Amino acid sequence: RALSLKDPSLLETRAYVNGTWHAGDTRFGVHDPATGALVAEVTDLSVTETAGAIDAAYAAGPAWAAQTGKERGAILRRWHDLIIENADDLATILTAEMGKPWPEARGEILYGASFIEWFAEEAKRVYGDVIPGHQRDKRIMVLKQPVGVVGSITPWNFPNAMIARKVGPALAAGCTFVARPSELTPLSALAMAVLAHRAGIPAGVFNVIPSTDASGVGLELCANPKVRKITFTGSTRVGKILMEQCASTIKKMSLELGGNAPFIVFDDADLDAAVEGAMIAKFRNNGQTCVCANRIYVQAGVYDAFAEKLKIKVRDLSVGNGFDEGVTTGPLINEAAVAKVEAHISDALAKGAEVTTGGTRSNLGGTFFAPTVMRNVTRDMSVCHEETFGPLAALVPFTTESEVIALANDSEFGLASYFYSRDLARVWRVAEALESGMVGVNTGLISTEVAPFGGIKQSGLGREGSKYGIEDFLEIKNVCIGGI
Ligand code: ADP
Repeated sequence: RALSLKDPSLLETRAYVNGTWHAGDTRFGVHDPATGALVAEVTDLSVTETAGAIDAAYAAGPAWAAQTGKERGAILRRWHDLIIENADDLATILTAEMGKPWPEARGEILYGASFIEWFAEEAKRVYGDVIPGHQRDKRIMVLKQPVGVVGSITPWNFPNAMIARKVGPALAAGCTFVARPSELTPLSALAMAVLAHRAGIPAGVFNVIPSTDASGVGLELCANPKVRKITFTGSTRVGKILMEQCASTIKKMSLELGGNAPFIVFDDADLDAAVEGAMIAKFRNNGQTCVCANRIYVQAGVYDAFAEKLKIKVRDLSVGNGFDEGVTTGPLINEAAVAKVEAHISDALAKGAEVTTGGTRSNLGGTFFAPTVMRNVTRDMSVCHEETFGPLAALVPFTTESEVIALANDSEFGLASYFYSRDLARVWRVAEALESGMVGVNTGLISTEVAPFGGIKQSGLGREGSKYGIEDFLEIKNVCIGGI
């Protein structure tokens, strides 16, 4: 199936460094997870070329930082507008390399663009501070300045938005940026660069370096002294490697790592709303988001009713190629992702859980998997401890509020959590008690550019989005003025 694009020049396969396109000597294939077909062959950059991109970003830094916030904001705004104008094509590229249904891909493009828009506005609002002097002849000013060159490493599950969430605040703050997209999904990042170029983002300010050498390029970004910050979204395992590698140069870091979100349904919940929320929190992006509900705790009084309603909704999901009309659920990204879901299911079955719908690969073959609901899941099963990253809803019964809070917090992760209740006092109590950076109360969807996104515990450091998101790209300087 050939990609049908209104603007074929958005399907760029070369690296983007210092404002120019580099074809490179070696290339790697990008495949459509729905069909296995080759979508494009992309330039494969080396560690040496990565260092070159860092040099370009470093050289571009002072002039970009010297622009006013308003000037940088105007350029980011143009970039945002171009992304919106080209949203259909960007969605097509995204679905082709990642597999999510086209309408969902288009939603991601708009979501990503909202971060560019938000931070285009925030660029003008990077305020410092004036502190009364500590001695009669002194005054203290606090300046906020860009941290410098930012190295970004991002995953395949949101090939556009994970980069947009980082590059928006970085560029708004006056930083320059080297993006290493996932080797599975470099095309969305390169398409963003095409539009960045058209928007007038100066050479060297935004660079995209596709590469299959994840660990080599990652090490260069971490160890190169010209890079002042690493921003990463991905697994906790790789986050730990990057943190160790950043020690040698004391780099600033933002880490959006793994989650294992609890989703709690109390007896007093609006059950239909809870089912709706669970569908979004669990099955959006085919379960492949770091804020996906992983463990669904349902109070005894509504357990059977909730399980039945959820099963009916899950059976309504339509699995297929993301380009086909009406498809709600695409393929998983690769064979390893399927194997993980299968492992969680067989582990749970062996320990006494039961499948009420799904439970196996889809008859479409490939990496398509039947959306699954399991009942009678208990805390000793792997699905309660590891991120499944697939379409498996695991229902765990519970009795009391204190019991479920203990179960929910029994995790090294602390990214998102969700619960449904109509009791105001309980809403406060539980929201305060859950150990996570984000809590969805009576909603299964918490991500927006206006709110801070991020985790605690081993789910990461820093926040993306909102007025807090730009702080992660700013240094604080104390200017103490004497002799007044
Ligand atoms: P996921 O399971 O979401 O793919 P990973 O942490 O494996 O999470 O991958 C996230 C990103 O990190 C991807 O772009 C991947 O290529 C990259 N990556 C994997 N290993 C390393 C590494 N050792 N150093 C730097 N980046 C890495």
